[in-house]
Amino acid sequence: MRWNHCPKISMSSTIKPVGKGGYMDFEEWYEKYKPIKNHLARGEDRDYFETYDLELGYVLGIADTQPKRVWTYVDGDGGTYVVDGYHLVNRIYYYITEVPYEGDGIEVQVDEYSGCAICGEEGECEHELG
Ligand SMILES: [Zn+2]
Repeated sequence: MRWNHCPKISMSSTIKPVGKGGYMDFEEWYEKYKPIKNHLARGEDRDYFETYDLELGYVLGIADTQPKRVWTYVDGDGGTYVVDGYHLVNRIYYYITEVPYEGDGIEVQVDEYSGCAICGEEGECEHELG
């Protein structure tokens, strides 16, 4: 299915030049910074931390002492992103990485919202061309 009418979707790459940190996709980010397992998520095997309760407390503790190991997964423009540092706005959850980042402005696109730019429909719609 092609969405040529939509300027947002026609940039179909998952790697975007965002922030001062340059280009990186989520896989590269994952391998480079190595998110730690969430030891607080009982019975769940996951590497992100929720934005409330004990898990948030743990994130804040790290943010206090080793802020460059904390990342925020956010709902952004046209998709979701991992950005360096602890943020409140549009947060979905947090990552803590083994490897601290250097510099700032690192922004890695994780998901791109698909769908028609006009009506938001993810399946077929009247705006589809060809
Ligand atoms: Zn449409």
